[in-house]
Amino acid sequence: PYSYTPPGRNHLHVPGPVNIHERVLRAMNVPGQNHRDPWFAAWWKEILEETKILYGTTQGTPFVFSGTGTGGWESALTNTLSPGDKVLTFRYGQFSHLWVDMMQRLGLDVEVHDLPWGEGASEEIVEAALRKDTGHKIKAVCVVHNETTTGVTSDIGGVRAAMDAARHPAMLMVDGVSSIGALDFRFDEWRVDVAVTGSQKALSLPTGLAMVCASKKALEAGKTAKLPRVYYSFEDQLKTNPSGNVPYTPSLMLLHGLKESLAMLREEGMANVVARHHRLAEGTRHAVEAWGLKLLCKHPRWRSDSLTVIETPAGVDSNLIVKNAYARYNLSIGVGLSQVNGKVFRIGHLGNMDELMMCSALSGAEMAMIDAGVKIKPGSGVGRAIEYWQQTSKIIPTRE
Ligand code: PLP
Repeated sequence: PYSYTPPGRNHLHVPGPVNIHERVLRAMNVPGQNHRDPWFAAWWKEILEETKILYGTTQGTPFVFSGTGTGGWESALTNTLSPGDKVLTFRYGQFSHLWVDMMQRLGLDVEVHDLPWGEGASEEIVEAALRKDTGHKIKAVCVVHNETTTGVTSDIGGVRAAMDAARHPAMLMVDGVSSIGALDFRFDEWRVDVAVTGSQKALSLPTGLAMVCASKKALEAGKTAKLPRVYYSFEDQLKTNPSGNVPYTPSLMLLHGLKESLAMLREEGMANVVARHHRLAEGTRHAVEAWGLKLLCKHPRWRSDSLTVIETPAGVDSNLIVKNAYARYNLSIGVGLSQVNGKVFRIGHLGNMDELMMCSALSGAEMAMIDAGVKIKPGSGVGRAIEYWQQTSKIIPTRE
């Protein structure tokens, strides 16, 4: 009935959208501009080129569309495949489920392997399915790298090795929406054919850009691929991008933000970015252990450094924890999605994030859990996490 803004700030710890750095916010704060004015061409070409650091590629062709990760999925599929083409994929969370749904709705013949939520892509299944496919009917293997529902990071290098072991020519398509820009990603080394991400995850931008990188093989496949594509057509972009032009109006403010975000990632260095995500994730996992709780991710090799998904004890509705966190402490953490709703909650640590921000997430989660009846000792998780972060801390470059 009355207006009220809580003092302080909202502590945003969902696995996307994530915290936008002030430098990026300022960079986006520009008046309207004309993308047909002469400054644009060189600027746009430089941005496209710079996105390659995210994917770990010198060979790939990057695209930046207005859209979201879902648009990136559509772009990957429609630019490379024909109706009825067979694709091999896994379903182990809500996002892999939705990508499968898109594949089916586009008229692809989808071989789906359902795995328990908490597991990652099985290299054995990939190799066996491809070996069996002696007629090479399978045109693509599609894998969600970091399943944001479960906090599971699959081993894309391992999937590539399985494809090689089967000596199969299928393309490798990777949803890197919550991994690219945060976790180790090696487009060239893993010979990924299409990789997809979105601006509101590791890039720490507002939602609104779908980013894709395609291999030579994927572009070649596009020449004969028959699925209809219009807005997300690679071909339309390739007619204009090389000369610094665009087929339709770009979201200039978001591109200003992208340029700044890429500059910040370059300054930090991608290896340091990946190491920072690992440290933040390790500290969070130490906290979970100290609370006496369990991760949804079933095997240490799959533990995600982008987010941590925590199982709540039997009898405690995880939605109540998320609700308490927001209502009492102005902390936004993620609910469990779909079949794990009520059973888990998610703490995001990707993108523009540091240790002290994580301390607010962990202390808020502790208070919200205690409010919901979880038996934990106040400070136990935060205490364990700060011990780890203090012991592994380094001096910030430029502050020596
Ligand atoms: N893939 C993954 C792994 C995601 O986490 C998400 C969104 O959270 C998507 C795809 C869909 O992206 P968007 O919501 O940007 O369309």
